[in-house]
Amino acid sequence: MKKIKDCLFCGGIGELRDEGDWRTIWVQCKQCDAEGGYVDRHDGATEDGAIDKWNNRVEKEIINDIQYLLNMYEAYIDDMGGEAWKDEMFIKFATKYGFTKENLHKGLEELHC
Ligand SMILES: [Zn+2]
Repeated sequence: MKKIKDCLFCGGIGELRDEGDWRTIWVQCKQCDAEGGYVDRHDGATEDGAIDKWNNRVEKEIINDIQYLLNMYEAYIDDMGGEAWKDEMFIKFATKYGFTKENLHKGLEELHC
């Protein structure tokens, strides 16, 4: 079985769930109940299929967040001055990935390549 990534919302542990018959299966966070996509065994799906749906969701969300940070940071460099750090969403995502005013530039350069 594939490794289940940590929950993208709370960092909690994801585990496989079913409706009691192991027909429809999905991964759900034990801590915050976030769910990955559902798969159906009658369509030939497996545990790995459910885990893929969960893991892909985590990756997709991270890519979206990083793209947002990059866009905001470019705007910040171009014409916003210090405004990015007054934006709630920007601060939320930066904090989520451990970025501060001091290390953001370095962090984004690393993520870019
Ligand atoms: Zn969670």
